[in-house]
Order: sequence, then structure tokens, then C-alpha cells
Amino acid sequence: MAVKFKADSRRWLTLGYNPRELEKEIREFWETNQIPQKLIQLREKTNVDVLGYVEGPPTLNGVQHVGHARGRVMKDLRYRMKAMQGFHVTFRAGWDCQGLPVELEVEKALGVKNKKELLERVGEERFVEECKKTVMKYYREWRSADRKLGMFMDYDKAYWTYLDKYIEREWQYLKRAWEQSLLGEGYYVVAYCPHCQTSLSNAEVGLGYEEVEDPSIHFKFKVQGAENEYFLVWTTMPFTIITDMMIGVHPEAEYAKVKVNNETWILTKERVEPIMQKLNVEDYKLLEVVLGEELKGIKYEYPFIDMVPKQRELDKHPLVHTVVCEDFVDTNTATGVVHLSPGNGEDDFLAAQKRDIPIYVPFDNECRFTTEAGEFSGLFARDADSKVVDKLRKMGLLLSVETVRHEYPTCWRSHHKLVWLARREYFLWTDRVNEKVVKAAENVNYFFDGPKNRFLAFLKEGKPWCLSRERVWGAPLPIWICEKCGAKTLVASKKELFERALETPSQDFELHKPWVDRLTLKCEKCGGEMKREPFVLDCWHDSGASPYAGFTDEEFEKYVPVDFLVEAIDQTRGWANSLLLEHVILTGKAESPYKAFLFYGFVLDEKGRKMSKSLGNVIEMNPLLERNSADVCRFYMLWKCSPTDSMNFDTRELGKRPYQVLGTLYHLHRFLMQNAEYDNFNPRKHTLKWANENNALKSPDRWLLSKLQRAVREVTEKFEVCEFQFAMSELEEFVVNIVSRQYIPVVRRELWTDAPETLNRRLAVYATLWHVLKTLTFLFNPVTPYLSEAMYQRVYKQLDKTLPESVNFEDWPKPDKILQDDVLEQEFETLMQCVSLVYSARQNAQLKRRWPLQKVVVVAPKKVQNAMKNLEEAFLELANVKKIDYVEETPEETNEKRWVLTLGEGMQVLLDTSRDESLLGEGVMRDLARRVQALRKELGFMPTDILNGVHVAELDSESVRLLKPYLTDMAELVRTKKVYLHKKRSEVKAEWKERRLDGKKIYVAIE
Ligand SMILES: [Zn+2]
Ligand SMILES: [Zn+2]
Repeated sequence: MAVKFKADSRRWLTLGYNPRELEKEIREFWETNQIPQKLIQLREKTNVDVLGYVEGPPTLNGVQHVGHARGRVMKDLRYRMKAMQGFHVTFRAGWDCQGLPVELEVEKALGVKNKKELLERVGEERFVEECKKTVMKYYREWRSADRKLGMFMDYDKAYWTYLDKYIEREWQYLKRAWEQSLLGEGYYVVAYCPHCQTSLSNAEVGLGYEEVEDPSIHFKFKVQGAENEYFLVWTTMPFTIITDMMIGVHPEAEYAKVKVNNETWILTKERVEPIMQKLNVEDYKLLEVVLGEELKGIKYEYPFIDMVPKQRELDKHPLVHTVVCEDFVDTNTATGVVHLSPGNGEDDFLAAQKRDIPIYVPFDNECRFTTEAGEFSGLFARDADSKVVDKLRKMGLLLSVETVRHEYPTCWRSHHKLVWLARREYFLWTDRVNEKVVKAAENVNYFFDGPKNRFLAFLKEGKPWCLSRERVWGAPLPIWICEKCGAKTLVASKKELFERALETPSQDFELHKPWVDRLTLKCEKCGGEMKREPFVLDCWHDSGASPYAGFTDEEFEKYVPVDFLVEAIDQTRGWANSLLLEHVILTGKAESPYKAFLFYGFVLDEKGRKMSKSLGNVIEMNPLLERNSADVCRFYMLWKCSPTDSMNFDTRELGKRPYQVLGTLYHLHRFLMQNAEYDNFNPRKHTLKWANENNALKSPDRWLLSKLQRAVREVTEKFEVCEFQFAMSELEEFVVNIVSRQYIPVVRRELWTDAPETLNRRLAVYATLWHVLKTLTFLFNPVTPYLSEAMYQRVYKQLDKTLPESVNFEDWPKPDKILQDDVLEQEFETLMQCVSLVYSARQNAQLKRRWPLQKVVVVAPKKVQNAMKNLEEAFLELANVKKIDYVEETPEETNEKRWVLTLGEGMQVLLDTSRDESLLGEGVMRDLARRVQALRKELGFMPTDILNGVHVAELDSESVRLLKPYLTDMAELVRTKKVYLHKKRSEVKAEWKERRLDGKKIYVAIE
């Protein structure tokens, strides 16, 4: 085989697009040459501006899955684009290491059932060590997934929430809150997880709604001193009847007294009909209607007064077990009469506090009833439901019992149903700064209205933030309380702590339980001993402190408010919220710590179901990227839908369109490289300017360059406003249609020849492709960093050694007005319409596109004709015809059978379908040439290799006759010294391969 291609041609030119292999190579290149580190240094030194960034820290209690990766891909996109635009971005990693999520993971690993067992069997010290171990284990998993994904984060400067230095800076937030009286102790109703044995913040409650089953009961409370008169009440938490203290009605609502048999029932008037239907009461009579206000003060008989001695005692209070009026009572659902349990409900609690009614909370830490609950003591709260129902039934007070499936808050970590309990906790009184918080949030750019409204609506609720957790592995609450006089002090640094400690701390001291609890301080007021409040902080406070705790003072000044954050939509209640609250408290200003926040949608499975462990449909990144390309995944995630939409992730789709688009970009580069090297193209010499000066650019080149400017502008704009999917379609369209399907076919034949007199023309095509593909490589870099780097190294740097070391050091493309030509684009638009009319005419006549035809007649107005005439060369090439005629009116000849007419918008095309012997012969030649080209590829020949001979055998005699005049053309087309025709498969120096030509067997051999 003759090898005319350069001896040093690179191996990759012979290969197909194998992204996983390519990514491995590029990863090594980045690591060996420390490209991410160099990029940071480069932008630190020279930049147009500095952009702050803080990482929404992944919790190190699990592995990276596809839902996380979707956000990481968007972050990395933004970083790479901004870096290419010349910005220095603090793209530092951060790791969320403490809190309940990590504790539960360790509990599971240690095989302990609950906190009590944990403390008894394992102890705090060992538990803390285990937590650190698990954090490091998941850290390695995350790094491994990030590495595969191609993330360019700065891991050396990552923040870790469990380190003392972080905790100390986090404490500064609390100190500021303390100084403004925004941090304090309170007795309040909080959501409590019986399994985790700790309270949850309001924000956390929103994270864990699940569909659960609950009893749904209607029952009645008897009015004291009245004959057979009852209040009708509905509840899904029967156990709260044990802690019942009042009945609530709406003061302005109308309540009906309804006669049912020999009883009178009281409920809201609007609900009489539906409730009677529900309870299957057909015969009833409305006796009287009164305002809620008039019911106030009515005493009712508490049903369990004999079973719960404490309730008998409380019953003596003048307001206990009476009707109270409250505006929060909803009269549009149920009976409009609610029973109130201040120990188990927030509204109920506030209603009791207002009236100085004692709070009755007979629960231990495991949510079991204490002895204060009399007959119910020892029962777990939710297990008491059935006993309560039984009792009511026996007492004749139960009207109906059903099971409902409804959305109910569960623990976002352990999935247990939450219970509302009044407890002593520490709070950030964020409700007092809510106006500032909302104002700060309103000035942030969220890109899309849906998430923005969701976030603002949540913020407007403005509830206090329950900050304390009764757990172990967390940042300690730095409040010490005097055992003697009750004075409290907040200590916000290790230094101060050591200075005030009664005993010097041990060597292995760290800012965690149990070490920190061992430090007692001297009371400044009375000299007594102060002990720490045993709480740790809500872990959302840890991550929310990252803008200050993750930076130095100087960096905080410089980088915060940060430029742009991206997190999943559930972070409206999570990190986006805690960041904002803490920043407002720290600075005292109505200022958000971020200027822009993109909330992205969840990733669901291919059928649109939520990914969950129980369904077994969670896609983890490490295994996914062991089998699939990171570039293809990244492209897919950005391309498939809007970032705010939920995405149905289907791994089968990866190998389809996304792979095809990237494969096309890859093959375009191979095409350029093979041809350009053959003609000794030198990009430093053969520039667009050079081509222009030598009059070597033709209209297809100018058109492509003009289209490119549009693409650069559109893609940049769409990236900036996070409409990634539109940017991706633009790139897809440009690569697959504009370059590959439209431009290349027009110029391909010009590149076949190696005639010296057309060399400049070929070099001009390379200059055009070089410029266009290089620009595309830059635009793709934020999306497919591996492919872009690979092309950069293998094509651009190969031919131009003066380029920077990595594609990431290049400048982001800007549209060039000089290259923009709107008129030419319009003309091409017309041309493409016309070409597609020819294609459909060919299809009607069953004539393959590669068979040349004699003539096409274009019927169109003069203006259109002129546009077409400018681009006639391209038209002849794409339509594969020998001649074009232009007319304004449809000619008579349409009626003849040889003409096929197709109608377009404002134009018609008449295709001459008749083929004489020479056209037939050329058609046979093209068909054969195609099979030879395919065989060349299959056998691994370079497109530029010149073959010694091409042999064809057993072609029918008619085809042989037609083909004979075209053998020289064919030899040139398939790059061989000579084409030989054989009757039978005689002895040749190559292996015969069977092929089919129009249903008949032929044989081809190449050497
Ligand atoms: Zn829990
Ligand atoms: Zn004291």
C-alpha cells in the first residue's frame, strides 16, 4: 500500500470517536501538566475582574448521583466560560461534614438503632471518630466522580465545615445574632423526629413530605351542662386528644346547631351538608345558626378525664376545655371546629400562650407518653392513635373512622413521621429581620420566575429558625450558662474559650462534643461555674456560614456577595435560605450574599419517577462514568431540557443524538486535519486574511463565517441567562447541519484534487474550517471539556505550536461584525430551500442523490433567481445536476413525463429525470465508488492514501459498457492508480469482498 499521508500522522486519525479513551488521555494531560492549577494562577495574575463563588457543599454522607452531577455540570460550565472571558473566579470546593445526615449514616454502619443505644454502646468520642472516617470515605468517592466528570474546582482551597477554624468563623454569625438579641432560648413547638431524637428546623420540614397513611376520624365533644349537645371535630392525629386543652372556632363564621336523632351537633354552617353526607346522616334538621363569637367560653367534657389524672388537674383552669375564638380556624374544610393541643401544634401553642394556659407535653425523648399521661403512659405517640380511637368508640363519641393517604411531613433523613412538640430550644429570631431578608432576596437574579416565586413565598413565611439539635456530631452551640445565677455567655473563639476555662483543655481538644463540654467557665457575675448548653447547631447553619467561614476577612470583602450560584430547587428551603438569613444577620444589611441563584430541577428516572433507594433507580456517577463518556453525559444534561425542568434521565439516550453531535464535531476535525496536513496548510500563514487577499474565499465560506458569528452571539447570550438547552440546540444545529450537511458537501469535491493551480483555493477552505471549528471548540469547552481539549491538542496545537498550553487559557469568542453578511445568509436560505425541493423531486422519481442529472429548471421571480445565480456553483454541487435554467413562469414542458415538478414557497423546481448513457455511466461509477470508499475505511486506509489498484468483478455487461468511459474519473475519485474490471474473480493481490449493487452481487478488492 502506498502511504502518501505524512509518516508522523497521529494514531487518532485512523480511529472513530471513542470518547472514554480520549477522556482518559486528556485527564492525564490535565493532571500531569496541572492545567486547573495553572488556570487559577493565570487568572489571578491577569483578569478583567474578580468573581466570588462559594460552593454549595455536598454532604459527605453518600455518593454523587446524577441529580448532584446535573448541578455540577452547570457550575463547571459557568466557571470555564467566565475563565475564558478573562475573569478570576474563586471556584473552590466545599464539604459539608457535620450534622444529622452524617450521624445517621454512621449509626447505620455501626448497627445502632437509636441515639440512646449509640451513646451507651459507642460513646461520643468514638462516634466522632467514626463520623470523620465516614466523611473521608465519601470525600474520596466524590473526588473520584468529580475527576471523571472533568470538574475544574479548586480542591486545595476547599472549606471543610468540621474544622475548628471553620467553626470559629461560623460562631461569628452567632455572636452578631447574640449582640442584636436575635439568638435566644425559647419554648416553642418544633417538628421532632422520634428516631433521630432531635428537632428539625422549619426549612428541614419542607424537605421531607411523603405520602403516608393516617387514621381520619370524626368524633364529638359533649357540651357540659347541656342536654345531648356536641361539638363535631375531625382529626388525623387521634393521639393529640390526650393532650387536648381547648376547642377553637372562627369568631366570624356561622355555626349551625343541627338536630340529628335526639342529639344536637355543632359545626360550621357551610360544612353541614358535606359532613352529613360523609357520616351517612340522611335525616337532620337545622335548628339555629350562631356566630363563632357566641360559642366562646362554652365548657366541654374532656373525654379522658378519668384516665389522665393530670388532665383532671388542668381542667380546673377556667379556660381549659372551653371554646376559644381564633382566626386561624379554617371553616372551609372538615367541621370548622378544631381541637387544640398546645403541646403538639404551633397555632395551638400560641393560642395557649396568649391565654396563659399551661403547656402540657407529657412526652419523653423517644416521643413516648410519660406517666403524666396516665393510662396512656409508655405508648409511643403514634401508637396511641388506635387506643384513643378504641376509647372514643366505647364511649360512644366516635362518629367515623377511615384511613387517609395524604402528604405528611416526615424526617428528610430517616423518613419517620414527624411529631410536633413544644420543647426548649435555641432560636435565631429571624422573624424579626424578615423584612430585610425578603428585600435582600428580591434583588437577586433567579433567571426564571417559577423558582423565584417559590423562594420568595417561602421566605415571606418568616418563621423563627430553630437552631439547636440534641445530637453529637455538629458545631457546638457556644453558649455557657451559670449553674448558680443562670447568667449566659456566648464565646466565639477558641482563644477566648481557653482564657476563660476553669481548667486547661486536653491535648486532643477540638471544637466538638465531648471535648467542648468538658470546658467549664467561671461566671463573671457571681463566680459560679458555667456549663455549656449541650446542643449542637443545625447543619444548615454550617453551610449557610460558608461565605464568611470559608473565606478570610480580606477575601470576604473582595468576593462576597458572590457572582452566581447553582443548586437544586429544594435548596430554596435549604442552602439559599440559610445563606441569606445568616448574611443579613452578620452584616445587618438588607443584602444577599449572592447576586444570582439558579435553581435547577430534579433528575428523575427514564419513566419520570423520583429516584430513590427503595425503587433502586438511583444513578450514581462513579459507575455511570465508568461505562459512559463524561462529555456525552454533560452534553445530554444541558441539552435535554431547560435547567428548571425536571429531567428524565435515560442512559439509552446518551448513545443517540448527544453522541452523534459530538462524534460529528470529532470527525469534522479529522476531515480538516487529514486534508490540511496533506496540503501543508500552515494556519499562521494561511489565515482568513490571507485567503481574502488572495481572492480565494468563495461565497460558501463567507456564508459559513457569517453563520458562525450568529452562533457565537446566540450561544454566549443563552449561556449567560442559563437557557442552556437553547445554546445546545444552536451548537447542535451548527455542527450537524450547517457545517457537516451543508458546507462540507459544497466544498468536498474541491478538496479531492491535488492540482497545484487550485492549491490556494484548498488552503482557503482549510483556513475557513480552521477558524470555524476552532471557534466551535471554544464554545463547546464549557460543555464538553474533554473533547475540546483533545481537539485543541491534536489539531490546533499540532499545526500551531505558538498556541497556549490548554484550550482553557484561550479567550472566549466574540462575534465579528466584519464577517457578518445578512444578505448572503438570506441568499443561502433560498438556495437551501431550492436544494430541498430538488431532493424531494429526486425522491419522487426514485433517483439517488449521487446520480448526476442533466438539468433543473428553477421557476422563481427575478429577485430569487439573482440570489440563486450568485450561489450557482454551490447549487450545482448540492443538487448534483449539470445545468440550471431560470424562468419566471412554469413552462409547458411540465406535462412531459421526464419532468418532475415540486412546489415550494415562492418557487418551483422542475427536474429533468431522463438519463442518457453518459449520465447512467456516471451514476454506476458513483455507486461503485461509494462501495470502494466504504471498503477503504473498513480496511483502515487513510482518505489520503493512494491505492495501487481497485478491482471489480462480476459486474453485469450493461453496467460494464456504461462504466468504461468513467474509469479514469473513478480512479481519481477513489484515489487509486488504476481501476481494473474482471469478468470472474481471478487472482489479485487483495481479498475479494462481496458487495451488492442494485440487488445484484458484485465483488470488490483493493490493494
Ligand atoms: Zn429522623
Ligand atoms: Zn453566675
